[in-house]
Amino acid sequence: MIVTRFAPSPTGLLHLGHALSALTGWQLVRRAGGSFRLRIEDLDSGRCRPEFEAAILADLAWLGIDWDGPVWRQSQRRDAYDTALDRLRALGVVYPCVCTRADIAAAATAPHGPEGPRYPGTCRGRAAVSGDFAWRLDAARAAALAESLRFHDAVAGTIAVDPALLGDVVVARRDIGAAYHLAVVVDDAAQGVTDVVRGDDLLAACHVQRLLQALLGLPEPRYHHHPLVTDAEGRRLAKRDRAATLAALRDTGVDPARLRAALLAGDSAAFARQSGAD
Ligand code: GLU
Repeated sequence: MIVTRFAPSPTGLLHLGHALSALTGWQLVRRAGGSFRLRIEDLDSGRCRPEFEAAILADLAWLGIDWDGPVWRQSQRRDAYDTALDRLRALGVVYPCVCTRADIAAAATAPHGPEGPRYPGTCRGRAAVSGDFAWRLDAARAAALAESLRFHDAVAGTIAVDPALLGDVVVARRDIGAAYHLAVVVDDAAQGVTDVVRGDDLLAACHVQRLLQALLGLPEPRYHHHPLVTDAEGRRLAKRDRAATLAALRDTGVDPARLRAALLAGDSAAFARQSGAD
């Protein structure tokens, strides 16, 4: 049985790109017979807002997308992330890190990866730390344990995992005790997700997420990273582009059935243009 999920962060309004992810996963399940799960990724309590979660539910209802089972919230899943972190610690593939963003930006040699400056490894091998710290994946040690890995994407094909691509990512933030990559792999496995459907801005995340799955003994999902929805000028949409949000399209009287058809036909730029996105 196919299980897909839509996993938005309630840090802003959903836009056309989110709608495409949700719709693609939903359609896959509704055609093949399976389960479509909704997971609210609200770990970052400083940036998440209840009104955005309410808007997500309203936007999905407007689009005609329903989901199976209860809505999961990552803020209620801390115990599961703690357990996974314990396992990584027992494997010796994480280390505490006291560096701030400013420290990392100031490290002149910090090379850049797809997600910005790659961590230069300042705290790797540090004997003792005190006070507040995050946990980082020791990508090289993790890769040595997991050996050669691949992941399979319906659009991009089969890709060999490159653990150095994102480097030593944070797996548990100092303020919330968990972080995106760890929470996603733990939850995808716990929800029995067989097919991860999302925008191709997250393709690079698979290099870390596949590695974490292998270390934690979690099943490997199939991936489907769709091209990002762009505006009429070919620029990717951002949460700040109010005009391309589903709420704005609804306000201008867009017919959700037409929008769904356009999204699935790869023709949604017309809607971004119609609502005047810039
Ligand atoms: N929560 C992430 C976002 O809203 C998506 C995570 C995922 O699909 O893996 O961008």
